[in-house]
Amino acid sequence: MKKSMKNNTKVKNTTVYIVGAGPGDPDLITLRALKLLKIADVVIYDKLLNPEILEHCHSKCTFIFAGKSADHHIIPQKDINKLMIDFARDNKTVIRLKGGDPFVFGRGGEEALELKKENIPFEIVPGVTSAIAAPAFAGIPVTHRGISSSVTFITGHEDPYKRTEHLDYGHLAKDKGTLVFLMSARSIGRISFTLIKNGMSKETPIAIIENATKKTQRNFTDTLVNAVTLAEREEIASPAIFVVGNVAKLGNKLDWFNKHLQLDSKESKSEIHEPKSFHKNKKLQLSQ
Ligand code: SAH
Repeated sequence: MKKSMKNNTKVKNTTVYIVGAGPGDPDLITLRALKLLKIADVVIYDKLLNPEILEHCHSKCTFIFAGKSADHHIIPQKDINKLMIDFARDNKTVIRLKGGDPFVFGRGGEEALELKKENIPFEIVPGVTSAIAAPAFAGIPVTHRGISSSVTFITGHEDPYKRTEHLDYGHLAKDKGTLVFLMSARSIGRISFTLIKNGMSKETPIAIIENATKKTQRNFTDTLVNAVTLAEREEIASPAIFVVGNVAKLGNKLDWFNKHLQLDSKESKSEIHEPKSFHKNKKLQLSQ
């Protein structure tokens, strides 16, 4: 980066775009995201998004893999913030591209606060969040008239740097709506156990959706008491969403994507979902 990028450099006409890339299927990005990708000078992107999306960028665009997923940070957050700020001060059009929606467990708020602190204009471009898309791709509406009137998005693992639990499982166990746990692949047992211990019925319907919207999607339904056995038997791995609540039962009737894949497996799906290589020469890998 250029030496001229001092902290007090005035940023003119530059906006940092904090953009949601959707849950995995590259078709599930917004038109706004698509337009911005086409004009980006720099894209700083996370692990959970489909690299095929980056093919929309022009050939001179610089790609920086920030390597961030639910539980694994390759570049420390403060360095990601610094990269955005430095490139913006260099009057580059910067896209901070995140899986799903940037404001749903995506640290988009933290990054926006940093930009605000540095007086750098920013725009938030919402994305299709996996919290809604994953259940939808398993045929589960997160709300449904007569079945669930509310939905709660919950982290399946507390920030490892926090010492105390911030979630009130006593309250969650009494919830009559839908609970959607993100970052939960490895904590399905702990979550189910804690909900049951706090009074939730063992027979509450659940669903687990892994790799939602991708060719590799797997989805299952069962009851809360069986969730841990199911997760272990199927070796559920990240990224996965754990849905708890009566709407999960609808997945048995409305599961459409697997059938769609079976019908379509040889043709369009593999083409749409297989990530292709993208401007490999421009891809910049950073490490600590
Ligand atoms: N901002 C993202 C969430 C980031 S937290 C969003 O709005 O979707 C990362 C968690 O998202 C993962 O641990 C997993 O629970 C969930 N997730 C992301 N993509 C997913 C996918 N394709 N299938 C299932 N879960 C996914």
